[in-house]
Amino acid sequence: MFAKATPVALATLLAACAPPIQTPDPLPEPEQVTMAQWASGCEPWDEWDKPAPPFRIHGNTYYVGTCGIAAILVAGPQGHILIDSGTEAGAEVVLANIGKLGFRPNEIATILHSHEHFDHVGGFAKLKAATGAHIAASAAAAAVLRSGEVGPDDPQAGTLDAMAPVAVDVIVADGDVVRTETANLVATATPGHTAGALSWQWQDCDGRAGCKTIVYADSLSPVSSDAYRFSDHPAYLAAYRHSVARVRALQCDILLTPHPSASKMLERAAAGSLVGGMSCAEYADALEARLKERLAKEAAGG
Ligand SMILES: [Zn+2]
Repeated sequence: MFAKATPVALATLLAACAPPIQTPDPLPEPEQVTMAQWASGCEPWDEWDKPAPPFRIHGNTYYVGTCGIAAILVAGPQGHILIDSGTEAGAEVVLANIGKLGFRPNEIATILHSHEHFDHVGGFAKLKAATGAHIAASAAAAAVLRSGEVGPDDPQAGTLDAMAPVAVDVIVADGDVVRTETANLVATATPGHTAGALSWQWQDCDGRAGCKTIVYADSLSPVSSDAYRFSDHPAYLAAYRHSVARVRALQCDILLTPHPSASKMLERAAAGSLVGGMSCAEYADALEARLKERLAKEAAGG
């Protein structure tokens, strides 16, 4: 008869076979700059891939993008949310900035988007590989991300760089909420610049500075190929106008945009605060004026 192994013997065996506990390499001391310092290193409408250091926007919300293209990190103890990657080259800057803040790539749980063009989501494949994060996208954006190319319905079809295709894990619809322990990010579908564009709103609380509502509003700019006319697509145009109206109605203490210069982020940061300086309503007014100008040009045959 075989002797029955005692629990002690089993525990000893397991201990002998257990791999040594891995202590991760220590992270560098968090390295970030003030938003005024960030602004001083960048120029309005700067190059898309020009490196810029990360800075805290408010509470758990950080800017981790380049000078010319935003990427926003919302940190949470059980995993961070990242919105946008920049271009494929810009994603290297974003990854480096995440590290500079003292976060590890594998702490990024979810990646969200503004709109499905290569300057904002072209680094998704690279970031997904580096972080293992889930990608959550609108249905229209998911089709572009999976194929790596915009569809024929995109106003800029034929003029944009292709992207490395990437798997999408979750589809986000209008009104959906993506949560961390520190913030609930609410999606607003804002088609116009692209069909799958999303804008994001969340509240972030900072002990000393209080709670602020942050809006990362999509570009919503009437940019297209030479052949495209918005006025030839009445349903798309109606959805576009509705998006601008929805952005106008959003409460926002802090307005952020995928192209920082579209909402004077550099000027506001240089003054030391992104609170105020441009409201969501003022941003919507500026977009509406651009759309009106564009439609007038189209009506005049331009
Ligand atoms: Zn775009």
